[in-house]
Amino acid sequence: MKLTIELVPQTCFFSNLRSNLSKKDWDMLRQQCYFRANYRCEICHSTGNGFSLECHEIWHYDDETHVQSLTGLVALCRDCHRVKHMALARKMGWHYQAEEHLAEINNWNQIQVSRYLDLVFDVFEQRSQHDWKLDISWLAGMGVTLPDMLDRDAQLQGL
Ligand SMILES: [Zn+2]
Repeated sequence: MKLTIELVPQTCFFSNLRSNLSKKDWDMLRQQCYFRANYRCEICHSTGNGFSLECHEIWHYDDETHVQSLTGLVALCRDCHRVKHMALARKMGWHYQAEEHLAEINNWNQIQVSRYLDLVFDVFEQRSQHDWKLDISWLAGMGVTLPDMLDRDAQLQGL
């Protein structure tokens, strides 16, 4: 599987499951995710190089309807996870290592990496021009209920 980057648009008010779920629900979801992945990174198949695996949310962005849908979770090693969050990696100064990892996993040269990153950040800019509706019905199928969270106004007032 190729390592890809799906940056969360700046206009998405919901992007981090871990901070919106109870610890119990989040632990249940991520333990299931690691189990299903056989305790290996689902991209590069490493067992984590001494770091524990991390659980990453997979979002689908419909550029026609502007609906952001949660479609699943994926178990990633720290290196692959940092690539997924390339905007954060740039902020934190991890991006050189992240770019190297992206090149290695996808067997890309430097030009291919730069072109791909340009594309990813262009899509991010475009998507950040729109408001996004949220579809997290996937969670209900996993037995996780989310009181109040679907109500954006309620969430904003709570801030
Ligand atoms: Zn990996």
